[in-house]
Amino acid sequence: MAQTSAFPKPQSGLVVPRFGGIATFMRLPLLDDPAGLDIALLGVPWDGGTTNRAGARHGPRALRDASCLMRYVHHVSRISPYDIARIGDVGDSSVNPIDLMDTLKRVQKFVARVHAAGAIPLTAGGDHLISLPIMRAVAKDRPVGMVHFDAHTDTWDRYFGECKYTHGTPFRRAIEEGLLDPKRTIQIGIRGSLYGEADNDWGEQQGIRIVTIEEFYKLGVDKVIKEARRVVGDGPTYVSFDVDGLDPVYAPGTGTPEIGGYSTHEAQAMIRGLQGLDLVGADVVEVAPPFDPSGNTAVVGATMMFEILCILADAVARRREGNMKPNGKGNGKSNGKRKR
Ligand code: MN
Ligand code: MN
Repeated sequence: MAQTSAFPKPQSGLVVPRFGGIATFMRLPLLDDPAGLDIALLGVPWDGGTTNRAGARHGPRALRDASCLMRYVHHVSRISPYDIARIGDVGDSSVNPIDLMDTLKRVQKFVARVHAAGAIPLTAGGDHLISLPIMRAVAKDRPVGMVHFDAHTDTWDRYFGECKYTHGTPFRRAIEEGLLDPKRTIQIGIRGSLYGEADNDWGEQQGIRIVTIEEFYKLGVDKVIKEARRVVGDGPTYVSFDVDGLDPVYAPGTGTPEIGGYSTHEAQAMIRGLQGLDLVGADVVEVAPPFDPSGNTAVVGATMMFEILCILADAVARRREGNMKPNGKGNGKSNGKRKR
């Protein structure tokens, strides 16, 4: 294993209790510059793409606070991300709360700086439209595949006749712009009433693999993981986690809740099942604190960020050690497990 003593570490909860200090993502150092990082945690405090109940602009701050509950070693995989990757909080992207098109440019610019520094972005939203400017930065050289957790496909065309950019359209735009390979895209948990029966046809015609919630429960977690790995294969892959893919009993604090979703436990198992893929970026979006009086949705979102952070750090370690073997074919020796 590489020398790790210089890697940024979270503030220890055994030195300053986890409820104390200034909240950053995972209690990591707040950095002005992503240079030298393997993974950059960032926020996009913006919800101008929201079509119904706004509030996700408050997500990054609530997620930073809730993320202070996270400890350091994954309880199942034993991945210790801060021992195998250089990870820091690089702050929030600039946004313009009253100008959607300007915000898309600002977010792209912010994430492009992270990408140019060689760091993988793990972004806290914000509404789901933020995935588009993130992809414009991380997928500018070649399209990426995607594992997409959501109740909604987010491949609709327009809203109110003319608006092409909403949180219901980012992946249609990303496919049109050549950023997202629909044939390497899987959407898991799709459900909810539609405006029309053909709403999701466009995505399927492009080749997206849609796993409705009905199919999810028919197949079960292990087979869905297998299907996700088959679809994205060994190419560069983005993970996008909309908290409304979860049942609203677990994540009520979101703008567009849909009942009948998967549980937090099932979602955690699916994320863990993506270990070993060629991961190039991820986001957790649609946490809307105004609809989250208990704060539990923020805890859920922060925990999903930690789950994703573990598999991202593992991907960093595998690349460093030349052991990027997707589809579970890694030798298991260099996957970031802490020696016990
Ligand atoms: Mn979404
Ligand atoms: Mn959604």
